[in-house]
Amino acid sequence: CVRSVWRSSRDVSGPVDRCRPFSTETHEFKAETKKLLDIVAKSLYTDKEVFIRELISNASDACEKLRFLQTTQQVKDVSDAERPLQVTLSVNESERKFVIEDSGIGMTHDELIEHLGTIAKSGSLDFLQRGESDASKIIGQFGVGFYSTFVVADKVEVYTKTADKEKGEKGYLWTSDGSGSFTITEVDEVPRGTKIELTLKDDATEFSKLATVKKAAQKFSSFIDFPIYVTEEGE
Ligand code: ADP
Ligand code: MG
Repeated sequence: CVRSVWRSSRDVSGPVDRCRPFSTETHEFKAETKKLLDIVAKSLYTDKEVFIRELISNASDACEKLRFLQTTQQVKDVSDAERPLQVTLSVNESERKFVIEDSGIGMTHDELIEHLGTIAKSGSLDFLQRGESDASKIIGQFGVGFYSTFVVADKVEVYTKTADKEKGEKGYLWTSDGSGSFTITEVDEVPRGTKIELTLKDDATEFSKLATVKKAAQKFSSFIDFPIYVTEEGE
């Protein structure tokens, strides 16, 4: 039996064989989420790198949230307490991968469904009602968050574990190809925080190149309060 485990971004070998497979749940996106995904894909077609801005901003928010909750003693027992708060982008050109990893707040099983399965931004629903050309303008200006990943990726994998030990110590893999449903599987050995792995579409392979991603990271990382590293994997 094959069971997914979280792998360090340096280890590019296949899934590890284990003999206790976890079951996978499949969920449908909400109807309006599907509609949003379509509009986002069309609107960002000429401005693809926006997904990097959105992912860096989410990773930074996640670190910020953990720092705040720790400082205010709302999270007392932190998972992987020795892990510094940081963000790492890595690329693998031969595997067409773009990966972003943070050691922030992470998500529980229910938070994954709530935050990545429905429209998080309250404004998003408004512009859906206002027609496509308005939507393009709004998306270009303000971004549309996590769903921008589907503009460049035909497979999105999110490995995550909450920082709050009181909420649980299990790690999960959320995956979707953006076409209507997503799956969630419990996985072993996920460190605290979130790692998002994109398998890039044919017309977006530039984002598996170190130079492109370095440049974009520089562009989008001013005002980010945590170290951001950019690395390359593979040959
Ligand atoms: P927004 O950032 O405006 O809330 P997004 O679509 O970018 O909208 O993200 C949706 C939600 O998913 C976030 O509010 C957050 O709860 C969750 N999320 C996304 N990325 C991460 C991450 N790296 N770590 C923890 N939670 C995340
Ligand atoms: Mg966001």
